[in-house]
Amino acid sequence: MERTDRRALPTSTLALVPELLEVEAYRRLLDPLVGATISRVEGDHLVCGGAVGRCPAEGLTITATRRIGKLLLLDTEHHVLGLHAGMTGSFLLDGVSAFDALRYAPAVADRRFIRLRAEMADGRCVELHDPRRLARVSIDPDESRLGPDATAIAVAELHRALGVGSTSPTALKARLLDQVRIAGLGNLLADEICFQAHLNPGRRAATLSAEEVTTLHRQIGKTLRALGRRGGSDCGALQDARVRGGVCPRCGTLLERRTIGGRTTFSCPVEQV
Ligand SMILES: [Zn+2]
Repeated sequence: MERTDRRALPTSTLALVPELLEVEAYRRLLDPLVGATISRVEGDHLVCGGAVGRCPAEGLTITATRRIGKLLLLDTEHHVLGLHAGMTGSFLLDGVSAFDALRYAPAVADRRFIRLRAEMADGRCVELHDPRRLARVSIDPDESRLGPDATAIAVAELHRALGVGSTSPTALKARLLDQVRIAGLGNLLADEICFQAHLNPGRRAATLSAEEVTTLHRQIGKTLRALGRRGGSDCGALQDARVRGGVCPRCGTLLERRTIGGRTTFSCPVEQV
């Protein structure tokens, strides 16, 4: 898909389910805050895990931004702040979305859905926009619960993450979505990667050959780089065909639509084996 195609979809980005690429865009948006001190946090107590009273983030100075999978991390001198975007969360810095720079039209935030507002001592302001109220901020999140980040996973790690050679009945796509095994891939990226690797997302992951794991590994890297350049997880070749009656963009066959790992899955029944 070319960038010009994005003009027809100008304001949907704030509703896109954040996957690794979107969270990386949030990280880059917030990275200029390194060195800033959080002076005041206000908003929905649910966002901070029900904590009441003064937010523990107040008074902390941001020393670095990091990301593991879909978890955005702000390091400070005393704590690590974990920003979980949930299903519909996105972050704004001084009213600007991470996607304004990537896409033609500015993403439009609905002020009713601003759940959290963090002011910096220098006057800058971060806001969390989240219609579904599933985004969370956590203090010192357990980073060990996440698998290797999909952008950096090694072939041997992918081999282990898929349980190749085991007796597990788990489908390939369900393995790719399992954040404990490999962090960062969501529904759109997992389908696109399987499509680009010519692999059936419903196949038992344990049955992949060494050659297929290598192909999958290469396509994870290629797909993430390509979609990162194009503007996000919804910029894949399969995206426009993700509708009832959608056909394969390569061979024109009616796509198979089913639920795998609890998520709606599209694949080509001819090319993905
Ligand atoms: Zn096809």
